[in-house]
Amino acid sequence: MNDTLRESYDVVVIGAGLAGMTAANTIARAGHSVLLVEQHYKLGGLATWFHRKGGHIFDISLHGFPVGMIKSCRRYWTAEIADSIVQLKHIRFDNPMFSLETTFTREDFSKLLFERFRIPAENVTGFFDAARAMSHLDDQAYTTRRLFEKFFPGRQDVVRLLMEPITYANGSTLEDPALTYGIVFSNFMSKGVYTFQGGSDRLIRLMRDDMRKNGVDIRFACEVQKVHVERRKVAGVTLDGRRIGCRAVVSNANLLGTIFQLVGEEQFDKDFLEEARAVRLNNSSTQVYMALKPGETLDENVCGDLLFSSTAPEFRTDMLLSRAITSRTYSFYYPRTRPGHDRCYAVASTNANYADWADLPPDEYEAGKRNLIETTLEGISKYVPDFREKLAYSEAATPKTFERYTKHWGGASFGTKFEGLAVSRSLPERIAGLYHAGSVGIIMSGWLGAMNYGVIVANDVDAFLMKI
Ligand SMILES: Cc1cc2nc3c(=O)[nH]c(=O)nc-3n(C[C@H](O)[C@H](O)[C@H](O)COP(=O)(O)OP(=O)(O)OC[C@H]3O[C@@H](n4cnc5c(N)ncnc54)[C@H](O)[C@@H]3O)c2cc1C
Repeated sequence: MNDTLRESYDVVVIGAGLAGMTAANTIARAGHSVLLVEQHYKLGGLATWFHRKGGHIFDISLHGFPVGMIKSCRRYWTAEIADSIVQLKHIRFDNPMFSLETTFTREDFSKLLFERFRIPAENVTGFFDAARAMSHLDDQAYTTRRLFEKFFPGRQDVVRLLMEPITYANGSTLEDPALTYGIVFSNFMSKGVYTFQGGSDRLIRLMRDDMRKNGVDIRFACEVQKVHVERRKVAGVTLDGRRIGCRAVVSNANLLGTIFQLVGEEQFDKDFLEEARAVRLNNSSTQVYMALKPGETLDENVCGDLLFSSTAPEFRTDMLLSRAITSRTYSFYYPRTRPGHDRCYAVASTNANYADWADLPPDEYEAGKRNLIETTLEGISKYVPDFREKLAYSEAATPKTFERYTKHWGGASFGTKFEGLAVSRSLPERIAGLYHAGSVGIIMSGWLGAMNYGVIVANDVDAFLMKI
């Protein structure tokens, strides 16, 4: 397959996650030659799916994103993609503090906070306005914990309602900068939670077709081993042992992997390396995929679309990562998720620590996966008592699974913590033509964050190429 590769391209994009694909497409549309290289045998990165015998299809990260995806997909992809985005209307919470259903909008949350949680109207409005007004320029020492203490002092239940979905969505904690919480939370609150009708497979197929139309040269199952730098400028890459020349590289691979493996420490100065070493990886995840037998259904009025379920008496972000799982987020998929496909599915996700799984001996690792499935089936039976009888197939993924398929260090589900953004953005100042686009921090991760970051970096690359 590599015989048809050209000797050189204007840009090589390493990794076909949402940021990588969006960057590749935007740069190609601007008229530059682009090679997109993906080590996995399919495109999508974490925005992916898999098939299992019996006609089952599971989505990995199609659980919910903000309405902004519609605008971004229309502008940077196609009308067909944008028009397939639909709202999830039934978001549920069930924990020892409260059980409720919401559309996850500012209007509905304000009503809940005011009427059910008895929070004074001025605190509710003050909180939403403060969150909405947050920007990248705000003081990073002001934490989410302080934001909550200001508007909802002593109200653990309210913190749980406001924080649990966002912690699940991007791994953020109460100690992270409040601006990261405020921006992401406000994005969701503007109009609720959305999904892509047709499944991740259809989305990625439509993206692939658009990239091909725009002239992106796409290669699967090809790994970039090295980014070559000469006189502080990008000169090319080695992929599957062959050197390809280029003027710019956009790495969608993990930020730390990009710096320390693909480029190499020897290319950076001491201060930058120190800054890069201080970047913390984000947490990883576990998932249990469950397919119902053909013809078996789930009651939408009971399950809803997304269910944030917890048995923990109080909300603590560290408990969400523990292998002694108390909190799970269930995504329920009905035949309407993939029109033409008649099955129902459930996927249970938890945040997880890589270290809890990485070094287990094989038998303990397998036992851990079986236990994960078993405890999940127990958990879901609270909502669907005959779930085990309806079940046709189940399977578990751990942080090691995510590491294996994406090469993210530590199986990170959301790249790095917020400090990764400054390091990612400063790469082209260190090496001309070197860019990174992909999950860093809370704002630049998730489907919308990753895609928008791809566009920002594509514009930088275009400006760079026009200058030289
Ligand atoms: C369990 C789970 C649930 C999630 N749920 C949601 C959700 O509901 N909503 C939401 O918005 N987000 C969700 N996310 C997060 C979201 O999926 C990611 O933030 C987003 O897809 C990341 O996109 P990315 O462009 O940063 O790159 P990634 O998807 O991480 O892709 C990077 C790509 O680079 C490739 N690569 C790496 N190294 C090389 C190399 N050397 N050569 C070639 N290719 C390479 C990898 O194979 C991969 O394809 C979830 C994530 C997980 C793990």
